[in-house]
Amino acid sequence: MQSFSSTLFADADSEYTSARYVIFGVPFDGTTSFKAGCRDAPAAIRQASYNLESYLPHYDMEHYEAPIHDMGDMYVECLPDEMVSQVEDTVSLIKEDGKIPVMLGGEHSVTIGAVKAVKPSWYIVCDAHLDSQDEYRGSRFNHDCVTARNLETVKNVVILGARSGTKEEFSYARETCHLYTADDIRERGIAAVLDEVKGLVGDADIYLSIDADAIDCCFTPGLGTPEPFGMTPLDVRDVIRRFAPQAVGFDYVEVLPNDQGQTAMVAAHMIREFIAANFSKEK
Ligand code: MN
Ligand code: MN
Repeated sequence: MQSFSSTLFADADSEYTSARYVIFGVPFDGTTSFKAGCRDAPAAIRQASYNLESYLPHYDMEHYEAPIHDMGDMYVECLPDEMVSQVEDTVSLIKEDGKIPVMLGGEHSVTIGAVKAVKPSWYIVCDAHLDSQDEYRGSRFNHDCVTARNLETVKNVVILGARSGTKEEFSYARETCHLYTADDIRERGIAAVLDEVKGLVGDADIYLSIDADAIDCCFTPGLGTPEPFGMTPLDVRDVIRRFAPQAVGFDYVEVLPNDQGQTAMVAAHMIREFIAANFSKEK
């Protein structure tokens, strides 16, 4: 029998029943405010994943040692509140089956349903934006309302890398969240900031969400709402390495694959890092 290529994430060779990690894409970009097109990200990230060596020297593991299943992409409804319900239903099933959801956006509003399903003790997000509008352009499920919605599910929120938002959003975020701006991280260094966050979080379960625009757009320009003066790819990888071991859910969102492929490539690496860091704890 000849072998055939597939469009699934590289090394996601497990059946659903035997998998520990369940990858799925949510190709939704219905509320994007600047440049649309992040519905194409799941396919671009999966394609990028085939460039990665299976061996991860940092973890001394082959990626295929981790039992990963890729469900493919969800057929999403066009209304954001319906999409949020679809994601909540899917993640609830994955959680009930004792597996860890690894979601590929799509825009950031996909995270709202996942957090509602997982109900983590802590929500940690890397994002250039505060996403703290109560409503934006007619929807409470706009990608600019994600943190505001998640605060209805999770009491404890950490925002890393923020540098864009209204004055009201910044004061709201400082009142309701643990906020570390991109400037804070640059001044203090990512290790010191993560030590402090670890002190807050302890060993509690967390949901980890990476909005691709947390990373400076001069590194990864494939973004719907690009922002300079941000975190580096290494900063974000440090966040994943530190917190993946205690995470019960993960997503990587807001990649707009209109660049030379850097942004999707970084995303593919980060997803693999998440799984490797979480799985290494279990090995
Ligand atoms: Mn966001
Ligand atoms: Mn953002």
